[in-house]
Formats: sequence, structure tokens, C-alpha cells
Amino acid sequence: MNTIDLRSDTVTKPSKAMLEAMFQAQTGDDVYGEDPTVNMLEKSCAQFFGKEAGLFCPSGTMTNQIAIKLHTEPLSEVICDLTAHIYNYEGGGIAFNSAASVCVIPGERGKINADQIAQCIRPDNIHYPISKLVSLENTSNKGGGSYYTAAEIAPIAELCRSQNLALHLDGARVFNALVAAKETPAQHGQYFDTISVCLSKGLGAPVGSVLLGTEANIKKARRIRKVLGGGMRQAGYLAAAGIYALQNNLDRLTQDHTRAKQLEESLKTCAFIAEVLPVETNIVIFKLQNGIDPDTFLAKLAEQNILASGFGPQQIRFVTHLDFTDDMLEKSIKVLKAIA
Ligand SMILES: *Cc1c(COP(=O)(O)O)cnc(C)c1O
Repeated sequence: MNTIDLRSDTVTKPSKAMLEAMFQAQTGDDVYGEDPTVNMLEKSCAQFFGKEAGLFCPSGTMTNQIAIKLHTEPLSEVICDLTAHIYNYEGGGIAFNSAASVCVIPGERGKINADQIAQCIRPDNIHYPISKLVSLENTSNKGGGSYYTAAEIAPIAELCRSQNLALHLDGARVFNALVAAKETPAQHGQYFDTISVCLSKGLGAPVGSVLLGTEANIKKARRIRKVLGGGMRQAGYLAAAGIYALQNNLDRLTQDHTRAKQLEESLKTCAFIAEVLPVETNIVIFKLQNGIDPDTFLAKLAEQNILASGFGPQQIRFVTHLDFTDDMLEKSIKVLKAIA
């Protein structure tokens, strides 16, 4: 059997049908705004979430960083969870790109609430940075795929509106959240000023993220994308993969969630386990018993052609995805049960 790669949902390869859609794409120079397929992707993604406009970018890091740049200025501050991707996994980009400060909240499995945010908002005093932006992550990666429902986002959006703060969504896995919550993109979209959606995670496209927002914000975002070197030319070949993914790979995310749940159930019965975080979507994070070395554990899995990621002290992460099949699930469970 081929390698079973549970390191991330970014490891998927484009399917034959997706490649076919890419080959057939109509393209043009997107820096001139002339790529019809990019324009179609941006428009349809925006419409999905009830936003005015979209901007296709090479990565979710770029869409997040552009959004932060849009909403902040030097001397101002971003509020987010302590484990947020924008703070931990974007290379310190908030400081580098936006010269902004960060107020981190120790949330619950990556999720923060309106009361916690309210306590972070700075009074108008020259000693403090100026609170400008709140950023939520849905689903939360470090939180083990936990998700916000629309009802949880609503009071946060209300607070942001009343305090004149912008609200951004790092929606790298927002479709996992929507499928799990059985809610629509527009239900969540209404609450955010900007939204970053990744096409290269659970949706199975090879490249790309889309930033959504108002016409005015996206016009400015296009300028920032250019200065970051993210203006692409015949990007329609890549955008076609994104369109294909949005049309074909959304509903099937429930399969990833079911398989993650099955991994959780069998992990719970394994002797090497100290704790499995409750599985809500496609991420499974578990803690090994003290005395079991994570690197040795990962090496044992790798010997059986199963790849996983170390994810903090004694922690391992599995992520299920489009290329992780029921056969692979069965084999993974067998291997896990056999590891002593
Ligand atoms: C993957 C991811 C991103 C974006 O990552 P890129 O690799 O730059 O596309 C942003 N936020 C979260 C939560 C992610 O998991």
C-alpha cells in the first residue's frame, strides 16, 4: 500500500477531473485583471459568503497578512487567541508586514469569546497600542479542529461593531466548520469584514487562498498583494482547480470528519494514549503517555508507511483529507492497535 499521509490536509494531489478542469481553463494576465477564470473564482467565492469582492492569492499566509495590513497601522494592535496561526505560524509577519502589536488571549481550544476580547481592548492612552482588529480562526488548527458556530460569532461581531474594531476570519478550514455546524457561508460571512478561505487544505486544490471583503478593501488588498510579490499572471489554471474544488469537494468533507472520529475512537483504546482531544472536524490531536518518546512513536508509524506530525509536547496530530480512504483508515487503525 502507498504511504498513508496524515501530516496535513495540504498533502492532497489534484484528481484527474480537477486536472482536466485546470487544462481547460480560459486564462489571461491577472495582474491586468484579464484572467476570466480568476475573476470567476473571486466573484463566486465572494457571492458564496455574501461579500462584495474577492482576491486570489498564492497562500493563506498572504491573505491573512494582507487583511492584517488592511485593518491596522503601526502603533495599533491585533487581538487573537494565543494559538492563532496568524501569530504563531506566519513567521512573525504581523510585526514584519504591519508593524503592529498583538494581544493574545488564552482561549478554549483556540476559541475566544466577547468577554475575553472586551478585556483586551485598550483605553485611549498614549502608553498603549491602539486596538484595531480582532481575528478568529475557524476551525482552530491548534485547538484540534474545534469550530465556532454563527451563534458564537454573533456577540463577537456585535462587540467589534460597537468598539469600532475590524473583524477578520482566518478561514483556512472554514468549510469544515460550516459542514460540521450545518450552517451556510453567508450565515458566517455576514459577521466579518474580511475572510481568508484556503482552497489547498480540505478542498484539495494544489494552490491558493481567496481574501473576501468589500470592493474598497479588496481594491486596497490588490495593491498590497502586488507589493508582496503575489500578483500572478495566467493564474486561471490554478483558479480553475479552486472552482472545481468549490463545486465538487464541499459536501464530502463530512467523510473526513467521520474518519477522524473513527481514528479518535480507536486511539482511545490504545495503551500509549494519555488523552485524545475531542474530535469535531478533520483534526485529531492526542497526547502520548509520559515516557513514550514522540519521535520514536512517529518513527514506528513511519516504518508502517504512516506519516503524522509532532504537535507540541507529547502531542501528535493526524489530519484526515480527500486522499485518505476507508482502506487507509482500516490499515491505520490496525497499525495503531499493534503499536505497544
Ligand atoms: C494552513 C493555514 C493557513 C494558511 O497557510 P498557507 O500554508 O500559507 O496557505 C492559515 N491559517 C490556518 C489556521 C491554517 O491552518
